[in-house]
Amino acid sequence: MLGYNAKMSSEERIKHHENLKKQYDNKLNTELDYAYRWVTNGNFLDALETQAPNQIDYCKHSMENPPLQLLQKMSNETKVAAITLTRKKCEADIQRNPTCYLCGKTLANSIVEIIDFALLKCNCGQQYAHIECADNHISTTSQCGICKRYIVLNNIKHSNLQQTLLRF
Ligand SMILES: [Zn+2]
Ligand SMILES: [Zn+2]
Repeated sequence: MLGYNAKMSSEERIKHHENLKKQYDNKLNTELDYAYRWVTNGNFLDALETQAPNQIDYCKHSMENPPLQLLQKMSNETKVAAITLTRKKCEADIQRNPTCYLCGKTLANSIVEIIDFALLKCNCGQQYAHIECADNHISTTSQCGICKRYIVLNNIKHSNLQQTLLRF
């Protein structure tokens, strides 16, 4: 448009603007000022660069004094597909295997798998661990490092985490 392009730096744009004014003997200054305002509008520059139809349409509403004819022409001529913003899918952590509180390794393949495990309880709540990890832990530290209460250890055989969660 009038020799402007989306890649110009702001310095190049203002120089180009001044040159255009001279070129037209200062007779088109008002019009050229409009054009300059368009090419300093980020949304319009994005539309020039991407040629995306939805970006072009967005300019019609978002710009002050939008160059409607030019935007319509761009809209008609563009062969680019609309920009679609894809939302990143957030998945809940339910798929993750339950892990041992103490060693961090897998405790069961799911909360309903039948396993042997240790339940550690203190004022902070309850945690699940491998029986071996819990035994090792209790033999060195019988008190909780946070609430200072003695840790109550229950070894639970042939059960699943879900049942235990409901029972205690
Ligand atoms: Zn463990
Ligand atoms: Zn505690």
